Amino acid sequence: MIMSEAIHYDAIILGGGPAGLTAGIYLSRAKVKTLILNEGTIGGQMVLTHEIANYPGVESISGFQLSNIMKKQAKSFGCDIKANISVSDLDLSGPNKKVTLSDGTSYSSDAIILTPGGRSRTLGVTGEDMLKGRGISYCATCDGDFFTGKEIIAVGGGNSALEEAVSLTKYASRVTIVHQFDHFQAFEHAIGEAANNPKIDFMMESAITAFYGNESLESVDIKNLKTGVITNFKTDGAFIFIGYVPNTEFLKEKIDLNKWGEIIVSSDMSASIEGVYAAGDSIAKRYRQVTTAVSDGTIAALAASTYLNELKVKQKQLITV
Ligand SMILES: Cc1cc2nc3c(=O)[nH]c(=O)nc-3n(C[C@H](O)[C@H](O)[C@H](O)COP(=O)(O)OP(=O)(O)OC[C@H]3O[C@@H](n4cnc5c(N)ncnc54)[C@H](O)[C@@H]3O)c2cc1C
Repeated sequence: MIMSEAIHYDAIILGGGPAGLTAGIYLSRAKVKTLILNEGTIGGQMVLTHEIANYPGVESISGFQLSNIMKKQAKSFGCDIKANISVSDLDLSGPNKKVTLSDGTSYSSDAIILTPGGRSRTLGVTGEDMLKGRGISYCATCDGDFFTGKEIIAVGGGNSALEEAVSLTKYASRVTIVHQFDHFQAFEHAIGEAANNPKIDFMMESAITAFYGNESLESVDIKNLKTGVITNFKTDGAFIFIGYVPNTEFLKEKIDLNKWGEIIVSSDMSASIEGVYAAGDSIAKRYRQVTTAVSDGTIAALAASTYLNELKVKQKQLITV
């Protein structure tokens, strides 16, 4: 591994989803020398979304397309973007923040914006790990097509679960939604759309307790949570939509997180260390959408920009004294 001298930026953004890309657009447009470092494909969770129909001003667009537009926009203002990187060390403590990548490259900055987003939560039951990608999926857009004409299960009761179950009916002949409560935690229109879809059945107050199969998923055990009775159901596929985990493991002990691992921020998106801001799905908040990520990213960028300007004034004063 080659250890190089840190390349300095005014601001570094860790995460290239909608929150990070928006922060990149705002900072670069304000002539702040900015670098976005992203683990994985630029766009974050957006690229998993086959259709975004609730982004104001755009009636319908694929998440992949929207990501590309945001990326192009950030680059057009001079923002540097590096994707598919892996952060091996992060020092947020002093005024000079330092990010080291697993290839030995390192970058420093005066301000940093954390936008690592989140990932799908797993059920953690028998057979799930073994059958992941062999009948068990967490992404309708990525895998729905593999289940054309098949009978499948969708687990969950939030907006994502209901919307994704509806999108799966484009492929599957039947989608049974398994949900642990007797009611959904979703918007009325999402519930209505699922309820009115003739290909969707509901199994309420029920939970999957095991997955079975050899080459691919063959059946699941479903427990009736009211009676305790477990029944085995044959199925070709199971899609799990039960929420997310913030990608903040690398921030433990470095910044204040709440008990769910979400980054604690003030209303200007500043985190617990001076010069560090956070935005998007990884912060402590209730609603997680592209629009909320974009809004958080805007606020974080404006606050970071103000911080950087004040820093410059302080540095100038020190020189003249
Ligand atoms: C299946 C699905 C459908 C959805 N549909 C919609 C919809 O229709 N409308 C809508 O508004 N929202 C939708 N959402 C939600 C929306 O995609 C998210 O709220 C939004 O993408 C969050 O943006 P973010 O930038 O905070 O994080 P993310 O989109 O999660 O992006 C974070 C990025 O940071 C990277 N990263 C992680 N750790 C690090 C690290 N240590 N260093 C550097 N980079 C890191 C990740 O790889 C990722 O690329 C959907 C989500 C899913 C999963």
